[in-house]
Amino acid sequence: MTKGSDLLRPAPSGLCCLPGDFTIDPVRPMPYAVITHGHGDHARPGHGAVLATRETLAIMAARYGEDFAAAAQPVRYGETISRNGVEITLVPAGHVLGSAQIVLRWKGLTAIVSGDYKRRRDPTCAPFEPVPCDVFVSEATFGLPVFRHPHDGGEIARLLQSVAQFPERAHLVGAYALGKAQRILCLLREAGYDRTVFVHGALATLNALYQAHGVALGPLAPATTETGDRFAGAIVLAPPDAIADRWSRRFADPLPVFASGWMRVRARARQRHVELPLVISDHADWNELTETFLELHPEEVWLTHGEEEALLRWASLNGVTARALSLVGYGEEEGE
Ligand SMILES: [Zn+2]
Ligand SMILES: [Zn+2]
Repeated sequence: MTKGSDLLRPAPSGLCCLPGDFTIDPVRPMPYAVITHGHGDHARPGHGAVLATRETLAIMAARYGEDFAAAAQPVRYGETISRNGVEITLVPAGHVLGSAQIVLRWKGLTAIVSGDYKRRRDPTCAPFEPVPCDVFVSEATFGLPVFRHPHDGGEIARLLQSVAQFPERAHLVGAYALGKAQRILCLLREAGYDRTVFVHGALATLNALYQAHGVALGPLAPATTETGDRFAGAIVLAPPDAIADRWSRRFADPLPVFASGWMRVRARARQRHVELPLVISDHADWNELTETFLELHPEEVWLTHGEEEALLRWASLNGVTARALSLVGYGEEEGE
């Protein structure tokens, strides 16, 4: 019988598909890379050929320049490419724009490398598509029972309440440049906030890229404009590191906000001097992880990176065969 380990094997360069002769999300330059999504820990420059969704390739070009790889091969969701007898299909992962699970079919075996994913609704990207499989390779970023992300609408309502309560202060919202920033903007618009949101320059390129792919973000303006009221009462979106540095001093009595799954941990919020922590994550929480394993019911679950111990224990109690790969080099976008 064909085993998962005949098809996929963890290596220092990433997850290698031996018969297909390619690596998924390689952490060092490889001749042929299949990339799940555009976050920097998964999509790195310098490979020979890169197979990914059109959106992921556009994100890589925006971040690294048009020559980020020797050759780029775009695929649509659901399209199948064959390489050395391995069929490769990309299906939505629900993580960020263009994010994909890599479905591999070979000799009757189906293995899925899901990259990063979440199961809840996100107005900025296609929803996670469950595909039956023998081996499901999963992240475990928030693989502890303490991580149960609340409804994102409730978190955005807390932000808007604070803006109403402190109209003399500038709300500086820290959000990762790819995915989180655009999701926050969409959630604000869905909540009826139609005022201009001011944006740090480091977020401008990806905001424009999302808009070019049909994601409406509403009225935006650069946060560099000098206004007399120093953005009192405004919402300003910035990369997480900017809200704590000199840049933030230009704003009226800044109120630091941070949107991340890690904001569930009070110590992390305090460490970053975050006054209003918002628990909004683009990663599956404990419930989403375990419910996905039960729904797909694969022969084996492989955990790539993150909090693996509690999930392994949960798996052994729930009749799921699981193993930890402990891959190195992933988890930076929310791992800090
Ligand atoms: Zn990611
Ligand atoms: Zn990741």
